[in-house]
Amino acid sequence: MTATAPAQAQAQAPAAAVAHFRFFALEVLRTRRLGHSFLRVTFGGESLADFRSGGYDQSLSLFLPQPHQDHTTLPSTDEETWFGAWRAMPDEERPVMRSYTVREQRRTPEGADEVDIDFVLHGEGSPASSWAGRAVSGRRILAIGPAVAENKSVRFQPPPGTDAILMYADETALPAAAAILDRLPDGARVKAWFEVPHEDDRIVLPTLADADITWIVRADPGPGRTDRVLDVLRAAGLPGAEAPYAWIAGEAGTVRAVRRHLVRERSVDRRAVRFTGYWRLGRTEEQLLAEAYAGESPSEEPDSAL
Ligand SMILES: Cc1cc2nc3c(=O)[nH]c(=O)nc-3n(C[C@H](O)[C@H](O)[C@H](O)COP(=O)(O)OP(=O)(O)OC[C@H]3O[C@@H](n4cnc5c(N)ncnc54)[C@H](O)[C@@H]3O)c2cc1C
Repeated sequence: MTATAPAQAQAQAPAAAVAHFRFFALEVLRTRRLGHSFLRVTFGGESLADFRSGGYDQSLSLFLPQPHQDHTTLPSTDEETWFGAWRAMPDEERPVMRSYTVREQRRTPEGADEVDIDFVLHGEGSPASSWAGRAVSGRRILAIGPAVAENKSVRFQPPPGTDAILMYADETALPAAAAILDRLPDGARVKAWFEVPHEDDRIVLPTLADADITWIVRADPGPGRTDRVLDVLRAAGLPGAEAPYAWIAGEAGTVRAVRRHLVRERSVDRRAVRFTGYWRLGRTEEQLLAEAYAGESPSEEPDSAL
């Protein structure tokens, strides 16, 4: 499911993707705890001079070292050969590939390029979450990220004429939602539901938009979580709008249910709904990747009849 655009593009259509995505060497500069569940990792590195985030929900693919390794190394970072070389590595040596969001890219007054990524710390046994929890300055990883700002891993694309934006995000998509809100113009009408595991995850979200945000603090971490989200949505009024655009991201089952609710119960045009499963309850990203390559589990199905 979550073979994300950069990685999929590299793996499936290398020639077309060359200009849009490339490998970047990232070095941890510092970390900062945000709220209860989030850790911001700030990366630097000379190659970031060529990094071009498109903003909004720009994602990238990280390659993280195994617990016994300090840094990520790959046999090849050539766009035509890396994927085969990465797949051929022994399991215990192969860097762990995971999708994350560029929360912010900036150039410091001293001219250094930095990228922030906000990791959800969700479990010690999970490679990416555990890596983030152990990250210290100087650790080096690799990433496939954007080399041009207009690229297909910016999924938030409201069509012209959109007069209201509906958003649902769980904690994994909150960095993307925050980056979207950062960029929306003054007065843009937004109705958003953000689902988080803990009261302290209700972080401040600076925006010029006219944003009505409802926080849903999760009581049930299991499958019952989706019903609670739907209860909150069903009880909510939507902004009166002719052409709403919906952006939905988070746990795949909840994402599908929210999309279905908006399309079937609220008559939102299915073509104006962008939905992405960021993870799936009970499945690691390796399992989802294997399913995606077997054609079993697309992460986005804008035209399907879910
Ligand atoms: C486009 C995109 C952008 C993303 N951006 C971000 C981001 O900015 N920040 C972020 O934290 N995540 C983000 N994610 C989600 C992240 O890739 C997944 O949560 C991923 O599974 C984490 O890898 P892991 O190694 O920690 O866990 P995995 O090894 O993949 O999973 C191990 C177990 O943990 C479960 N699990 C995975 N994530 C969570 C979670 N958050 N809470 C509870 N259980 C979980 C799985 O179902 C599995 O059972 C993004 C995903 C996509 C597709």
